[in-house]
Amino acid sequence: MSTEKASEPKVGVSGRKIVYDKDGKPCRTCNSLTDFQFATTGIKPAKAAAKKPVKDAYKDIPPDVEVIGKSSWTLLHSIAATYPETPDNKQQLDLKQFLKLFGNFYPCWYCGDDFKEYLGKNEPKVDTQDAFGRWLCDAHNEVNVKLGKPKFDCNLWKQRWKDGWEE
Ligand code: FAD
Repeated sequence: MSTEKASEPKVGVSGRKIVYDKDGKPCRTCNSLTDFQFATTGIKPAKAAAKKPVKDAYKDIPPDVEVIGKSSWTLLHSIAATYPETPDNKQQLDLKQFLKLFGNFYPCWYCGDDFKEYLGKNEPKVDTQDAFGRWLCDAHNEVNVKLGKPKFDCNLWKQRWKDGWEE
């Protein structure tokens, strides 16, 4: 395994492209941890893992694109699950505004840019809880497809995020 410092590698050890910030440094919140470590040190996973600090309950490391993503989808789908079934006008406007701001502040900037582009092309459906849950499921599927992951069946969004599965 090579420990040579890679000079601005284009592709990470995950096979995904490495994302750089505007200042030319590898983006901490846009790459997986191993890709980020590879881009900054040239060290591939086994060595990178060996260099990880020892963790304890309070001493975890900053989140990478996958941890941020999973946590964010959990928050978004949970918002859908608790959104009123028949929201009033203010709730509908607030949710649309929230989604826009969410895209503006999303820690992985290129993910946020793509999300805002999706919002621009696909007006959020916020008139009922089910409409929003399905709209969000479609938005999540768009990212799944982009990342080569299977699509989720949006008829099941409530089982996954609200009601739970029957035994
Ligand atoms: P996640 O995709 O995080 O899904 C978590 C859980 O949600 C799954 O286990 C499943 O039970 C459920 N689920 C899956 N699909 C759906 C769906 N369609 N509807 C409802 N529930 C579903 N990562 C990148 O590398 N590049 C990007 O451009 C990018 N853009 C993103 C944009 C946004 C707005 C967000 C929130 C995340 C983005 N991510 C991006 C992160 C990426 O989507 C994943 O969160 C990350 O790769 C971790 O994936 P995961 O396999 O743990 O499951």
